[in-house]
Amino acid sequence: MLLMRLIILLVIVAALLWLLKRLFSSDPEPEKLESTEAEDMRQCKYCGVHVPQSSIVSVNRQDYCSQDHADLDQQ
Ligand SMILES: [Zn+2]
Repeated sequence: MLLMRLIILLVIVAALLWLLKRLFSSDPEPEKLESTEAEDMRQCKYCGVHVPQSSIVSVNRQDYCSQDHADLDQQ
């Protein structure tokens, strides 16, 4: 009877560890999304809006959200 209880206890512990592993393995996904959203954000020098670096317009080493704001600020 003692062996049966020990086996049941081991099964419960194994199930708990599996659940904990699932909980921890699902955590990094939202963190990755946050880090990709937070990186490469630049501020438009003219209007102050934050724009991803991929869509930034750079004129005379200054960052702008669009060519219009670059032209307006350079005038
Ligand atoms: Zn702007």
